[in-house]
Amino acid sequence: MTPLARQFARRIARHGPMSIADYMAECLLHPEHGYYATRDPFGRQGDFITAPEISQMFGELLGLALAQSWLDQGRPSPFTLAELGPGRGTLMADMLRATRAVPGFRQAARVVLVEASRALRQVQRQTLEDEGVSWIGAAAELPEAPLFLVANEFFDALPIRQFTRAEGGWSERLVALEGERLVLKLAPPAPLAALEHRLADTRPGDIVETCQPALPIVSELARRIARHGGAALIVDYGGWRSLGDTWQALRAHRPEDPLANPGEADLTAHVDFEPLARAARAEGAACSALVPQGVLLERLGITERARRLAAGLSGARLEAHVAAHRRLTHPQEMGTLFKALAITPVASPPPPGFSA
Ligand code: SAH
Repeated sequence: MTPLARQFARRIARHGPMSIADYMAECLLHPEHGYYATRDPFGRQGDFITAPEISQMFGELLGLALAQSWLDQGRPSPFTLAELGPGRGTLMADMLRATRAVPGFRQAARVVLVEASRALRQVQRQTLEDEGVSWIGAAAELPEAPLFLVANEFFDALPIRQFTRAEGGWSERLVALEGERLVLKLAPPAPLAALEHRLADTRPGDIVETCQPALPIVSELARRIARHGGAALIVDYGGWRSLGDTWQALRAHRPEDPLANPGEADLTAHVDFEPLARAARAEGAACSALVPQGVLLERLGITERARRLAAGLSGARLEAHVAAHRRLTHPQEMGTLFKALAITPVASPPPPGFSA
């Protein structure tokens, strides 16, 4: 039993079953035993590998897309260059290196990282040593200024709730206790305003997920972008509207039961982009169509960039580079499962790669 499993068992015995969202929040961010609070989970030795850790091309191309947006909007200065959940800081480092070629961009940028984990802030500090970045704990603390932002695999780590469609409304799936074991159990059905719009495309027995904490975060970004200008690029796995149980745990690159080792496995769920787009539009910002990651990177010129980098490589390093290109873009790897959404001011053109 992990220390968090013992804590959950005591809590459920005393107060009754808890929502998946409460369980997930504790598992990921508990200050002592939480997954992100206690380790650096990325890379081959870790539990999973993300796009910026696969290849420098990912951050380079997203950085240049943001810089083009900055040029299109008349080079506002100063502006905030921000990232939500920067992991190891690799994506930001690649963005900063690639955009050095854009005159005035780096001088006008105030780099801000939104990171909840103290352990990962430390890793980011090492990666971005000389870049003069600052850290905040939540999107609400972002400066009131033009905002150019990227978020990769951030929203999939936010706590979700799950509901099963029932005759009389929706039954929440709750984390309960069976003997000493954590199990999922259905709460009695009740109507739910937040899922009213899903009555049309679901049937009894279907599972639907909501991610409440994502909405105020997107509102904070979109309000600044609508008011001061900027662009937010959100990349994650998921789709416009999810259906079914997408909650998953990964440990050492292997899927496992999300209730098996609380605090020791990475927990994520597919991101539902429709509610994010709605929240952004409600603040007066514009949203692009959802673009598959492979299509976006091709439009941004990944094949040309890959060729250039390949020219300097040989042997195993060349093979790894070719495999990384494929992994980021191929429909059977990350190319189709991962999607990107851009939030911009209504009056500005979408960032490159986002217009059909
Ligand atoms: N973007 C990185 C890492 C993704 S993992 C990459 O692509 O490699 C998720 C990141 O979000 C981690 O840095 C984690 O600590 C951070 N995070 C998770 N929940 C958060 C929250 N509520 N507020 C701020 N950061 C959070």
